Amino acid sequence: MDKFVIFPDSVNDIKKNTTNECPYCPGNEHLTEPSLVSLVIKGGMLQRLSDSEGNIIKDWDVRVFNSKYPILVPNNSSLYTEKPLYSEPAYGYHQILVATPNHSEDFSQISVEQWSNVLLVLQDRMRWLYTQKKVTYVSAFINSGPISGTKIDHSHVDIVTFSEVPPAIESKALLSHRFVNENGTCPSCVAISTESDGPRQVLATDNFLAFCPWASLYPYEFCIFPKKHSTTLTKISQKEVFDLAMILRATIGGMSSVLKSPSFNLIFQLSPEKKNSRQFHWHIEVFPQLYALSGLEKGFGVFVNKVLPEISASELGSASRKEIAKLVGVL
Ligand SMILES: [Zn+2]
Ligand SMILES: [Zn+2]
Repeated sequence: MDKFVIFPDSVNDIKKNTTNECPYCPGNEHLTEPSLVSLVIKGGMLQRLSDSEGNIIKDWDVRVFNSKYPILVPNNSSLYTEKPLYSEPAYGYHQILVATPNHSEDFSQISVEQWSNVLLVLQDRMRWLYTQKKVTYVSAFINSGPISGTKIDHSHVDIVTFSEVPPAIESKALLSHRFVNENGTCPSCVAISTESDGPRQVLATDNFLAFCPWASLYPYEFCIFPKKHSTTLTKISQKEVFDLAMILRATIGGMSSVLKSPSFNLIFQLSPEKKNSRQFHWHIEVFPQLYALSGLEKGFGVFVNKVLPEISASELGSASRKEIAKLVGVL
């Protein structure tokens, strides 16, 4: 596979001393770009507002703005270069969705309602971004904790668009497409039926199944699939969003209790939404970061996983069931 590398203009801040003030905290809104969406909840009603000249919306529950250090920008002035040293301008949007006004609240602690608000705002943002020029793919992911790749320790989701489909998504779509052609059924639908109530199941809700994959690359890695075949997050109903919020809160809470608040990456694996693009069964992958990759992984693509997925699933399952019992008030 060709390498796909972005060299942003704006991350010269790697060597800069950043201030200790958290730019994502309420009261520090002036340290970020103006909000594109400030979700304010008043008397149970959700209001979607945005900052305007001289008017910063306060008392928000979820806030979205353009990153101050974007890895891509909509108007990139860099030029194309010829092969073999080929390069092209990296066009795109990089937005930050702050998931809670409370700095000390991580993704294992925010309420199910708040998770649901985050997902609803994320759906809105993705739909809007797909209407923009040069947006072929919208990615969303969470980096949480000191070794996850984030520099800001305040719960947030990164939303990054690309002018072409990223390689990992392209190859996932291609593999799924081939499997469907050969077997007449979606590979993930087969996996869901195999893993339901099996030894690698972590948790199931009405609409979603969480399990540790058969060939897990990392200890305690798990994924969450909609049980019903669906190609992307923006197509699910509000009721399904609430159910997804529940399984996310319970499994992230369970993972946090088993692994004592690990750093982790959570990746939304969604089909491209442009016409004629290959599709696959969307899902979420969660990778706890327990140790750095070794030469074996980086050099040869061979992974050593010291915890069998069945053991990971059993520990995560028991902790997640305790979380869900607390959330629905059984304990
Ligand atoms: Zn903060
Ligand atoms: Zn499927």
